[in-house]
Amino acid sequence: MKQRILIIGSGFAGMWSAISAARLAHLQGNTSLEIAVLAPEPTLYVRPRFYEANVSTLTADLQPLFTALNIRFIAGYASWIDERKKGVWYQATDTESVFISYDKLIIASGSRLRSPDIAGFAEYGFDIDQHDNAMRLENHLNALAKQPESLARNTVVVCGGGFTGIELATEMPSRLKALFGKDTDTKIVVVERGSAIGGRYSQALRDIITNASDELGIEWHLNSGVETIDKSGVTLQDGTRIETATVVWTAGVKASPLGENLVASRDASGRFVVTEQLQIPAYSDIFATGDMAHAKTDDNGNTALMSCQHAIQLGKYAGHNAVASLMGIKGLPYRQINYVTCLDLGAWGAVYTEGWDQQVKLVRQEAKKLKAAITGELIYPPKADRNVAFAAADPLAKFV
Ligand SMILES: Cc1cc2nc3c(=O)[nH]c(=O)nc-3n(C[C@H](O)[C@H](O)[C@H](O)COP(=O)(O)OP(=O)(O)OC[C@H]3O[C@@H](n4cnc5c(N)ncnc54)[C@H](O)[C@@H]3O)c2cc1C
Repeated sequence: MKQRILIIGSGFAGMWSAISAARLAHLQGNTSLEIAVLAPEPTLYVRPRFYEANVSTLTADLQPLFTALNIRFIAGYASWIDERKKGVWYQATDTESVFISYDKLIIASGSRLRSPDIAGFAEYGFDIDQHDNAMRLENHLNALAKQPESLARNTVVVCGGGFTGIELATEMPSRLKALFGKDTDTKIVVVERGSAIGGRYSQALRDIITNASDELGIEWHLNSGVETIDKSGVTLQDGTRIETATVVWTAGVKASPLGENLVASRDASGRFVVTEQLQIPAYSDIFATGDMAHAKTDDNGNTALMSCQHAIQLGKYAGHNAVASLMGIKGLPYRQINYVTCLDLGAWGAVYTEGWDQQVKLVRQEAKKLKAAITGELIYPPKADRNVAFAAADPLAKFV
């Protein structure tokens, strides 16, 4: 019987796990290994771009790539990992539950926004975490364009001033003007618990974010949280009332709960604490990767972030190491020394930093060009061509 590497998830980490596993099997001349990806659809959702307009276009069809690389795609949603029988139960349809066995399992089921427990959020709040949610926000903004002008219509409140909140807030003036007319007075407010704009980032990066916010007219409401959301606005914990039809939540992400029955340490974000080879310590046959893995990137105390940048590399290592362990070859300890950020700042431009201390290297249009190259090309799937895809999947090839 064929041996099988089963990968759960077709996001950045799952896709690169599959390509990397196929690459090592090919290099080893192993033609009897099945590499299978289990996910709801053979689609890559380009989550880092969900703050942009035209969300329906921000996907990539993975089937041509899987076909070219002889990767089997299985449509379904994993519900239970049976580590003793070495198999996964998944829902193939609403009613049909199926069991599939594995020799090595890679969990790449990603993350989701933690929905806030705030009165009115479920009815009136928005988020841009998943494709459907970002589409819902876009449809809402399109519908607002048909409504008469009002302060509430022209105001967007972004809850959470991290990278996602900043990218969304700085993009909003242009998005609203494109929808409502270029002379419309728009109001964008970021509500942030912390006491400083971009308080968790380096001083140089904070200064840029502050400058861009000032220039774009974005207001920051610091030291405050949201108390309630209703049809016509939001009330903050300090009693401030903001009239708005659009409240978007961006704070707090949690790893997928899949594998909750496994005996394993999970960090505060729900990620499995993995070994250098990305295995869950008690199970040498189970790997976790992408937003599911809490992994050391170097020997200086840095760990992978829940980011596309890390998910791509983590995927390449997980696929490689799963095949290596199955074939009795030495695996590769995960390392990702370089860390960069490229933050879109709407019409202001963008900012690019290098290093964990976030030294600013590029700003404005130069950084914006780089951002477009990263999110418009670099993070997309490789060409559906064996040579191109395998070259890109080498864990030791330079990424960023
Ligand atoms: C708005 C936004 C902006 C972002 N901006 C940036 C940025 O600028 N830079 C950056 O580096 N990162 C950014 N990120 C983070 C980045 O998108 C994630 O870190 C990345 O998507 C993680 O990749 P992943 O493959 O681990 O998970 P995901 O991309 O979440 O993919 C998970 C996959 O698993 C599947 N899945 C989930 N559960 C199951 C199950 N039970 N059974 C089967 N399949 C399942 C899903 O359908 C999906 O295919 C952003 C995220 C968001 C939401």
